[in-house]
Amino acid sequence: MKKWQRWLLVMALVLPIGGGLLTSESAQAASTTAKTAKQVKVTKQHYLFVMGHGAGDGGARGNGTTEAKALRKYLLPELKKYAKQVKNSDITFYNPKRNLVADTLQRHQGSYKINRHTTVIMFHLDAAGGHGGHVIIHRKHPTKRDQRLAKVIKTYIGLNPAYRGYSYRTNLRNCNVLRRRGIDYSLVESGFITNRRDFRHFKKDRAKLAKGYVEAITHEKLSGHTK
Ligand SMILES: [Zn+2]
Repeated sequence: MKKWQRWLLVMALVLPIGGGLLTSESAQAASTTAKTAKQVKVTKQHYLFVMGHGAGDGGARGNGTTEAKALRKYLLPELKKYAKQVKNSDITFYNPKRNLVADTLQRHQGSYKINRHTTVIMFHLDAAGGHGGHVIIHRKHPTKRDQRLAKVIKTYIGLNPAYRGYSYRTNLRNCNVLRRRGIDYSLVESGFITNRRDFRHFKKDRAKLAKGYVEAITHEKLSGHTK
């Protein structure tokens, strides 16, 4: 082999390695960029709003309707309206045709499939012998969000005197799945469906109630009139 031929051979071997290094470096740079974009996205808190019951489970009954129907008919459209105004968080809704509890406990989906960074807000109505609403919380003490939520309930529905705003429960099986997975949640009871006064306020003040809830949850001031 002549000297120039040997050089050529060496270059032929070395160049692809150098090129390869360059490629992997730029690939790394690209993946860093992608990661940064992803991190920015993650910092926007995601809230999943769940209308309780549904899919054949009506929940509590009262005032000629069921919990599942009343939540979907009165509260859901208003929550959707105000959720659209939110800028600093993302709010999505659990499929209202489905029942989160049944999806979790019977199908091993629902709460098992929710992203661990999501905050879950479940909406319910109480039944039988009582009045006023409260927040079911997942730690012994209410979070700031729970405190804001209880204030909204107090303003438009009134608080259940049995709980004075909050009830710490560890016997709700669906909620326990969330707790075990380290998922943050609140369960909002907007009064008793069986109580005429509670239910009248729930219907009449549904827009203010929904606006108050979305503001309490996202801690963002929303504009827009309420009817
Ligand atoms: Zn319920």
